[in-house]
Amino acid sequence: MSGRAVVQAYQYALDPTPEQERTLRSHCGAQRYAFNWGLRLVRANLDQRAAERSYGITDAGLTPSSNWSAYGLRKTWNQRKDEVAPWWSENSKEAYSSGLANLASALRNWNDSRTGKRAGRVVRFPRFKSKRVAGSCRFSTGAFGLVEDDRRHVRLPRIGTVRTHESTRKLFRHLQRGTARVRSATVAHRLGRWQVSFSVEITRVDPAPTRPGEVVGIDLGVRYLAVLSTGETVPNPRPLETALPRLRRFRRRMSRRSGPDRRTGQLPSRRWLRARARISALHLMIRSGMLGNRGLARRVADVGMAEFRRQIEYKAAWSGVRVQRADRWFPSSRTCSGCGVVRTKLRLSERTFDCEHCGVVMDRDHNAARNLAALAGAQAADTSSLSRRATENGPAGNPRQTCIARATGNATGSPTRATRRREAMAQDTFSDVSRTVSE
Ligand SMILES: [Zn+2]
Repeated sequence: MSGRAVVQAYQYALDPTPEQERTLRSHCGAQRYAFNWGLRLVRANLDQRAAERSYGITDAGLTPSSNWSAYGLRKTWNQRKDEVAPWWSENSKEAYSSGLANLASALRNWNDSRTGKRAGRVVRFPRFKSKRVAGSCRFSTGAFGLVEDDRRHVRLPRIGTVRTHESTRKLFRHLQRGTARVRSATVAHRLGRWQVSFSVEITRVDPAPTRPGEVVGIDLGVRYLAVLSTGETVPNPRPLETALPRLRRFRRRMSRRSGPDRRTGQLPSRRWLRARARISALHLMIRSGMLGNRGLARRVADVGMAEFRRQIEYKAAWSGVRVQRADRWFPSSRTCSGCGVVRTKLRLSERTFDCEHCGVVMDRDHNAARNLAALAGAQAADTSSLSRRATENGPAGNPRQTCIARATGNATGSPTRATRRREAMAQDTFSDVSRTVSE
């Protein structure tokens, strides 16, 4: 089986020395400085041209517009850096060029959005980067990556060899096998600590399915994140929701303590500062719970079902599992998974499905998941060579939130075959899917 190249990010928390931390901060500051410098330049140029236009100067007579491509900005920066930032050599030149590259793409997005070349949400003119917002710095040339024969350190230009908080084993093995190439490294201060994120080109050799022909139905919902046709359930942990009462309590506590007052110049009390520190710690916890957790369920619960689907689909493809979405009108909740009789109505409040015809009594979501599995199995019967697949459906009872039938890449990684078999369905046991997804 031949491999295919994908770009994946490998992120590691860092444990820098105080000296390294200073250098990291300096580089992020340098990136921000270059971004803001370039933005000021472009702004001044645009304002100048607008003013000239308002005096009635024709386009030919206007001050020439500045070149806001990454290349153009970098060129101007190099001409003027000795004058505007005599300290520039303290940081890697990559810090400045990545700041200018970010600015160039922000300006391009704004311009494309303005001229209708870019679809989607309106992109506003870039804003100055504040010192208070944690910055980042990207390196795309120079020595960066893992340290040879060492799974606890990364190498960064100018910053040196930095200890990682966790093992770099997975990426290490890819590099050892020669199936990975590190394209860039971005350092940033996020969630209270320094992190490095490597953008890595990986040549994936997707494994052959270990259990071909097996099928699992997945019913997505709110009470449980997912209910499987095997009867397993994936809880919906909702980190934000569970943290909200505590957040409310801390906010109330803070409001009863005396804070700063800009008008009278009153300084905040120590008790107020302490209360505020607890709130920000809680915010950090919620965020890291939502983003940093390794378990799939915890990561996606508050992010939403669209994210769940996105992750299931691409990770399933990696393991040779094919995901098939059921048609949004497929009556997965109203059909009896025992005898196939379709009920005309099933209220959302009815948590169990009981069939008058064959006497089946079953949890509503479990019944739906079994129907999805059966649907996939029936349609897979005539497309037998395809391997494991999974079927999922949106929350029961609301067709608008149910997704449309769509086939993603199949087990052998051949897209043409996947499209041809658009109608085909199949599955997998949930434990398999979850293993795939939380990998
Ligand atoms: Zn029945």
